[in-house]
Amino acid sequence: MSVVDLLFPKFCLGCGWIGGYICPRCYKKLAPVTKDICFYCQRPSRCGLTHPGCTGPNRIDGAISIFWYNSILKRIIKSIKYRLAVDVWREFCVSLAPDTLEKIAYYKSLCCRSFLQPIPLHPSRLRERGFNQAEKIARFLGTFFNLPQGDFLKRIKRTFPQAEIDFSRKRILNMRGAFGIKNRNMVKGKNIILVDDVLTTGATVKEAVRILKKYGALKIYVFTLAKG
Ligand SMILES: [Zn+2]
Ligand SMILES: [Zn+2]
Repeated sequence: MSVVDLLFPKFCLGCGWIGGYICPRCYKKLAPVTKDICFYCQRPSRCGLTHPGCTGPNRIDGAISIFWYNSILKRIIKSIKYRLAVDVWREFCVSLAPDTLEKIAYYKSLCCRSFLQPIPLHPSRLRERGFNQAEKIARFLGTFFNLPQGDFLKRIKRTFPQAEIDFSRKRILNMRGAFGIKNRNMVKGKNIILVDDVLTTGATVKEAVRILKKYGALKIYVFTLAKG
């Protein structure tokens, strides 16, 4: 045990057990997504690629999530505090099974060069939260897969938290115009892997893809840690 561990003992984010941020018991309660499906028709699809018949302009080219957003993962994501965020995400990401992460490598192999783009937070929400979870996940993936970070998107509208809106139609309206492009010339011709912590109705990523493709992005894949 190091001095750092003595001064700042690690508590399990799921149950409070001392010794690590996610104890083996809580880790076992995480539910990995075992079948990848097409984002649009929900039928099985290799690595979550959008079927040729389901593609269209401004559509997502593929989407994968690692875990179901169950009560334990909800608790873990909620209890990650600012001071520990970097450490916790590193430990959590390192503990992910390599074969689940390999799907990212597959997306990487489909394009000659892709950029990891975390879904940005609105500046005012970023100040409240202190950090962007999507950005932490993207940074880990970038180091792991040697992928460059993209900085194409910005949040230009403060939206209501999607979790507080009941209907998917309303969620889409809530997200309309949420994103802007930082530098139009930079997006053109780029392949992008969008990264977010949780995917629920997909309204957020759909809106991000809409704007990125509008400004000339080529392929866009979506990676989320959890799926609701
Ligand atoms: Zn635990
Ligand atoms: Zn499909």
